[in-house]
Amino acid sequence: AGVVLFFRDLTSARRLEAMRADFVANASHELRTPLASLLGFIETLQGPARDDVKARERFLDIMKGQAQRMKRLIDDLLSLSRIEMRAHLSPTQTVDLATIASQMVETVSPLAKERGVVVKATLPDRPVLVLGDRDELLRVAENLIENAVKYGESGGKVDVAVARTEGPVPQVAFSVQDYGPGIAPEHLPRLTERFYRVDVVQSRDKGGTGLGLAIVKHIVNRHRGHLDIASEPGQGARFTVRFSEAGPRP
Ligand code: ADP
Repeated sequence: AGVVLFFRDLTSARRLEAMRADFVANASHELRTPLASLLGFIETLQGPARDDVKARERFLDIMKGQAQRMKRLIDDLLSLSRIEMRAHLSPTQTVDLATIASQMVETVSPLAKERGVVVKATLPDRPVLVLGDRDELLRVAENLIENAVKYGESGGKVDVAVARTEGPVPQVAFSVQDYGPGIAPEHLPRLTERFYRVDVVQSRDKGGTGLGLAIVKHIVNRHRGHLDIASEPGQGARFTVRFSEAGPRP
């Protein structure tokens, strides 16, 4: 049995090593693309477009966009690695999920307005407490609501809800439903993988890094919660996060 165990550990170590190498390759590629574009524009500005004032303005705008994309990517990579470093620590703050949800609906409202999406929140009138890390839970809410607004904008509305769930073990659920194109079933199991995107061009156009749901998944795991993704293509997508409720019910 010892030998079998040894081999199993070896293959899982190899698998981890392969995943790590894959991640580094993906991250490098994602950073290299905007960097190559920036270098290209710098060379053009130093050479052929040196005296073209109009082109300069346009190129600088594009360059700013590329630099912002690199910054978003690095910020997300740093968030992910910070969360991973804390993976073994259990969160200890008592946090009200309803406050988190309403705060984030407010924060996302300028983006929603810009995209013509109405975000409606259905929240209980009493606090819904979980043991958690406030900033991390805000991040979960931010990523899920922003995705619903960005990818589901054609649906025109997004429903955010916090509720207690029925059952013997007190649980609370935070859910975000959009009414956009939804996600085909074959993509669902891979959505939380780092850099996995249904449509890379669309994700880039919308300012995505491909790390948002990986960050959500890591945070939810650290909180011993569950992430559930349900979608009927053509009818939108629903992301639900469930946690144990903290303390006795009032
Ligand atoms: P990104 O930075 O690309 O948005 P995420 O990890 O947040 O990365 O999401 C991964 C992919 O999942 C997205 O690129 C998109 O294809 C898909 N996705 C996420 N949320 C939704 C949604 N609400 N509706 C449809 N597709 C979605």
